[in-house]
Amino acid sequence: MEITKEIFAFLFGLVWGSFLNVVIYRVPEGISIIKPRSFCPVCRHKIAWYDNIPIFSYIILGGKCRHCGAKISVRYPIVEIAGGITIWLIWRNFKGEPLEMLRGFIFLSLLIVLAGIDSERMILPDIFTLSGIFIGIAFSFFLKPGPLFSLIGALVGYFSLWLVYKIFLLFTGKEGFGFGDFKMFAMIGAFMGLRQLLPVIILSSFLGALFGVSLIMVKKKSLSSMLPFGLFLTIASWVIYIFKLDLFKFYIGFLP
Ligand SMILES: [Zn+2]
Repeated sequence: MEITKEIFAFLFGLVWGSFLNVVIYRVPEGISIIKPRSFCPVCRHKIAWYDNIPIFSYIILGGKCRHCGAKISVRYPIVEIAGGITIWLIWRNFKGEPLEMLRGFIFLSLLIVLAGIDSERMILPDIFTLSGIFIGIAFSFFLKPGPLFSLIGALVGYFSLWLVYKIFLLFTGKEGFGFGDFKMFAMIGAFMGLRQLLPVIILSSFLGALFGVSLIMVKKKSLSSMLPFGLFLTIASWVIYIFKLDLFKFYIGFLP
């Protein structure tokens, strides 16, 4: 039954999201993602399997470590749910196209990991962005937009943000983005192609501005504080990719 498969995809996604949480925490810390078993980052107590069930354990434990009572970041359940919805929608929207499913699985997982790390540390590690660029181009030999427009997408992605960065620096003396953002946008160009860069950048800038203004209104941040742009790039690309949106078809429809 179709509904059973969709539920299975969602449940698998929750578990996958749980693994992505491990990657988000461990890779920047330089800890192996395989060993040791999950532990509380505060008291280092090993986490029992029954305290490691996606979503449920977080709710049952009230968002706190069983041993030391330290707060568990809300990032954990958010990434688990994001994983669940991602795998469910990949199954729904790319069914019957195994290579598309595989590309979506890798690309959207990379996006979620980058969003998680950027939100917490304001960095976008090369190991994800640079390998993402190569994987994106490799897939394009078999899928749209094809190798040429994937490569051009990566180059334009990198240098367009670099240019905005330079102009912003010239006029304000501040760094609006970091080099990680250029590489992440290049990765998005490699996976999605040149044509999708414009809708992605417009949507992510809009989300960033909306988020920034909301934070200023609740007085949590000042106008000059940095925002994790990688998070907004992730949300924008995720939505456009998974729903196969073609927002500017009317005038860049000639590009593959
Ligand atoms: Zn603890």
